Amino acid sequence: MIITIDGPAGSGKSTIAKLLAEKLGYVYIDTGAMYRAVALKVKREGINPTDKQAVVKLMEETEISLQGDKVFLDGEDVSHLIRTEEIGKIASQIARYPEVRKVLVKMQRELGKRAKNVVIEGRDTGTVVFPDADIKIFLTASPEERAERRYKQLKEKGIQTTLEDVLKEIKERDYLDETRKDSPLRPAEGSVIIDTTGKTLNQVFDKIMDIVKNYEKK
Ligand code: C5P
Repeated sequence: MIITIDGPAGSGKSTIAKLLAEKLGYVYIDTGAMYRAVALKVKREGINPTDKQAVVKLMEETEISLQGDKVFLDGEDVSHLIRTEEIGKIASQIARYPEVRKVLVKMQRELGKRAKNVVIEGRDTGTVVFPDADIKIFLTASPEERAERRYKQLKEKGIQTTLEDVLKEIKERDYLDETRKDSPLRPAEGSVIIDTTGKTLNQVFDKIMDIVKNYEKK
């Protein structure tokens, strides 16, 4: 059983996907964490994210792996280091390169097949990684609401920023993700689109659980 959850930054994908995997006892695959880990290495090596050639070369010398909800970069646990807005932005820039996507998508498919039962989340998990998934969910929310959620999360983590800056970053990231040629962010064919604006986490979660239960009854 494969469940894909895609959507823009701040749509609540990660929280929902993690919770769903936990509840169902499925393996959780966070594809964004893989793009973020590559982005962290790009930053550390002082490479300009717009320098495609350098990024692709770096990719060839990089090992990314996932274990549960942890991500490893060349053997180092970088799970916490990748959770900044800066790394998110670099991730969106390098995610435009088909060479980068090809390597990560291959890994994601292998992980998914090995696990059998998975909840996989990202931007293209229903359109590209597993187009034949059993259940495909696309989560959205207004940019303003997504920015507010992100802002709250960042504040809780003690990261100093303003709501305006977060909204600007979200809009920039949406633009990069939606307009790229390779695997742009869009709802997969046959996906259930859920607008989470004004909805609580529990409401969204219950709706998805209903979809899963109905699928299992079939
Ligand atoms: O979901 P998250 O915010 O961690 O993703 C970071 C960035 O990685 C996204 O903005 C997107 O550009 C890229 N990404 C992607 N395809 C995925 C997952 C993430 O292009 N499946």
